[in-house]
Amino acid sequence: MTDTAAPTFDGRALINGERMAARDGQTFDCLSPVDGRLLTQVARCGQADIDAAVAAARAAFEDRRWAGKAPAQRKRVMIRFAELIQANGDLLALTEALDMGKPVKYAKGVDVNSAANCIRWYGEAVDKVYDEIAPTPDTALALITREPVGVVGVIVPWNYPMIMAAWKIAPALAAGNSVVLKPSEKSPLTALKLAKLALEAGIPPGVFNVVPGFGPEAGSPLALHMDVDCIAFTGSTRVGKQIHVMAGQSNLKRAWTELGGKSPNIVFADCPDLDKAVEAAVGSIFFNQGESCNAPSRLFVEASIKDAFLEKALKLVPQYQPANPLDKNTVMGAIVDETQLATVLRYIESGKSEGAKLLAGGERVAPVAGGCYVQPTIFDGVTNSMTIAREEIFGPVLSVLSFTDAADVVKQANSNIYGLQAAVWTRDINKAHGVARALRAGTVHVNSYDEDDITVPFGGFKQSGVGRDKSLHAFDKYTETKTTWIRIDSPL
Ligand code: NAD
Repeated sequence: MTDTAAPTFDGRALINGERMAARDGQTFDCLSPVDGRLLTQVARCGQADIDAAVAAARAAFEDRRWAGKAPAQRKRVMIRFAELIQANGDLLALTEALDMGKPVKYAKGVDVNSAANCIRWYGEAVDKVYDEIAPTPDTALALITREPVGVVGVIVPWNYPMIMAAWKIAPALAAGNSVVLKPSEKSPLTALKLAKLALEAGIPPGVFNVVPGFGPEAGSPLALHMDVDCIAFTGSTRVGKQIHVMAGQSNLKRAWTELGGKSPNIVFADCPDLDKAVEAAVGSIFFNQGESCNAPSRLFVEASIKDAFLEKALKLVPQYQPANPLDKNTVMGAIVDETQLATVLRYIESGKSEGAKLLAGGERVAPVAGGCYVQPTIFDGVTNSMTIAREEIFGPVLSVLSFTDAADVVKQANSNIYGLQAAVWTRDINKAHGVARALRAGTVHVNSYDEDDITVPFGGFKQSGVGRDKSLHAFDKYTETKTTWIRIDSPL
């Protein structure tokens, strides 16, 4: 990758179909974690820009330029939008790799494809969802219909910028809502490009607006806005709690939150395929540099097989040494920025100082000068009370714990504030089912970690959030249920 091949970026907001600077002219530097280069200046939106975007979204909703289209018409536009994402896949993937640090091959193979697939799937679905008639006496009809909620505010994190946005904007737009999206200040560029592609696909101006900026300056005004009907948030549990407060303090808008995780991955001695379990444990924690909400960051291995398991795991670690994300063979790239890298290094220090045994990694490295890279790291001898077992690190750090029986491991796995995802590896169907039932998590895998499909709900128990993304269930978040009684005075 040479500088001459690097694309140029437009960091302006997109409001009512127009590119624009922040109203007060402020910008912020968008730096690449690949090598520290300045990618572009991005509009630093604030209250006035949020007001303008919400007003545009409201006007578009009220005149029904999108909500009033037949579902089959919205479907065609959504499918065109998905096709344009796919057609611009190389540029979007390169942008994501530069902006966020993930390997370009996954940015294309995972992020671009999943985002396009999600938008296509909700487009395809929307003209196949029927309303209902209640089983009332024949003196009346009760129609139960779904209507779009109106203006939907969307706030997303930086780890999968396109996918996190797509999981929310796809069902919201397909259902006929207008959207104001605030991407993360750490990775705002692909969202701005998506909004341009949506316009090109035929989503009318004002229906999908993107306002980049910082959380307190742009996110809070959106969550507090009196003319936003629903706020859909993905991010940390700390900010997610504030989102629910802001929704309650303002107009009682609906608030949906997809938050943090500290997912347990439980391997019993009778695991059907130890090599597969090792590959999944290592591959899933180091995928996306460990910056995944559902990363299996707590690995529980039954005591009798722990040594054998770790011996195999350590042999795989060299494959995950970080390298230039723009190189098509790279599997682990850069951490999103210096701040997040410092957080990861702080957690590594806390693991050492609290008595865990560092088996691999632990150091900052520099495969590309000026970039943000850390080695894949494994700690053994971790106990559930240690900070690295309790808190979400959001980096390539695996904490290994051990257990002696099913009741013991379920208790340990559940003793955490999060409940996003979990896995259990055993060939005993009774144990698999019993443990899966007892785990307090939104998704439980049996003998795998990476099954994924747009058709299944995704979300968490406990402090991992409220509501579910993906699947037909997501339409519930972005639609109101209306009952219309029709009196029939003279039945035959
Ligand atoms: P974050 O909470 O710091 O920021 C998320 C978004 O909220 C950003 O756009 C940010 O600008 C905005 N924000 C920050 N403060 C705000 C405020 N006061 N008001 C309104 N908006 C505000 O999270 P992050 O560091 O970007 O992302 C990492 C977190 O996201 C992790 O905890 C991870 O587990 C979580 N996550 C969860 C899922 C899921 O589906 N459950 C998926 C991806 C990431």
